[in-house]
Amino acid sequence: MQTGNSTGVLESLDGNICRCTGHNSIIRAAQKVSDKFTSGDKIITQSDLAEMKIIPEYFLTIHDRLQNLSQSGEGINSDSKSYGYFVGGGTDLFVQRPDEMMNSEIKLLYNDKDLFGIDIKDGYCVIGSNATVTDLRECEILKKYFPEFDGFMNLFGSTPIRNNATVGGNLNNASPIGDMTIFFLSLNSVVTLTDGISERDVFLKDYYLSYKKTDRLKNEYMKCLKFKLPDGNYFYNFEKVSKRTYLDIASVNSSVFLKTENNFITEIYLSAGGVSAIPLFLSKTCEILTGAELSPDNIKEAVLTAQKEISPISDARGSEDYKRLLLTRLIYAHFLVLFPEIFKTEDTYERL
Ligand SMILES: Cc1cc2nc3c(=O)[nH]c(=O)nc-3n(C[C@H](O)[C@H](O)[C@H](O)COP(=O)(O)OP(=O)(O)OC[C@H]3O[C@@H](n4cnc5c(N)ncnc54)[C@H](O)[C@@H]3O)c2cc1C
Repeated sequence: MQTGNSTGVLESLDGNICRCTGHNSIIRAAQKVSDKFTSGDKIITQSDLAEMKIIPEYFLTIHDRLQNLSQSGEGINSDSKSYGYFVGGGTDLFVQRPDEMMNSEIKLLYNDKDLFGIDIKDGYCVIGSNATVTDLRECEILKKYFPEFDGFMNLFGSTPIRNNATVGGNLNNASPIGDMTIFFLSLNSVVTLTDGISERDVFLKDYYLSYKKTDRLKNEYMKCLKFKLPDGNYFYNFEKVSKRTYLDIASVNSSVFLKTENNFITEIYLSAGGVSAIPLFLSKTCEILTGAELSPDNIKEAVLTAQKEISPISDARGSEDYKRLLLTRLIYAHFLVLFPEIFKTEDTYERL
């Protein structure tokens, strides 16, 4: 472990949002320990930290203990047995059902090397289901094709969560508000499912059947997700509204990918979360906009169509009316961010 980077140390605590009196003292303590080692180039090892009683001694054995645990994650392949749970990073499962998980038959996917990696294959970007949010943010392919992606995913959880939360977990948790799910829906992505023997592909927009129910069979797991690498005149945007800007899941989120030619939309994929029982691909809204001129009136018509496609419910994240309003605003936000020039006439806002 290399200390000497107090920002990194503090970032690793950014999920600690406890408002009790201990919160600031934890941060101060971390800062103090970090400052103590920032002078000079000496690399401080875990053993040094244990010797100085900064971390407990059992920390030194954790790597080996995790490796032993990982044995149960190997050899998924020809095994068609149905498991209670496939486990990715566990940030959903172990938070939502800790007791059940302790006594369930689980399959740890996190150690399966075949499920890692982000590559380009036959014009597609292929993302292994074990890729974490952090992996995606650091990936050169995504940086090249979607430079703003890093900023979008800064709104996802906290550093410790982003380091563990996998694409497979986000898509298969099937939450209607999963941030990665909503982003990849707007890239018209395809998921590859396998039972260890055969594989099949399903468009992500057809993957969600009803609340928390996907097209995946019990003995299948998600191997990877893929989408066509964009070319030509393409644009994309992701918007998320939550009660807190950071460290919170969305009330409503939405993502768009589109291509244009001479101010006309030639191709568009628009998704919305938090407004239906499933992560929603707004197919009718996309139909209205395909071939349409980029104009405030056409966008208004699309917004009205979107309202007919959604069926939000009132819950802790907001009332039905509020979520309807949010989606309207988020769709306008996409176009305001991407094409501010089309909104520049004085009466535009009154017409919307
Ligand atoms: C504090 C906190 C903050 C969070 N913030 C956000 C946020 O801002 N945005 C957001 O979208 N989510 C957020 N989450 C939710 C969670 O982190 C994500 O949904 C994450 O992507 C889940 O991934 P995982 O690998 O941890 O999933 P797991 O918990 O391992 O699994 C989730 C589900 O997916 C299934 N699964 C996992 N991998 C596969 C696979 N390869 N094939 C088939 N099924 C699989 C599991 O069986 C389980 O049903 C947050 C969670 C916490 C605890």
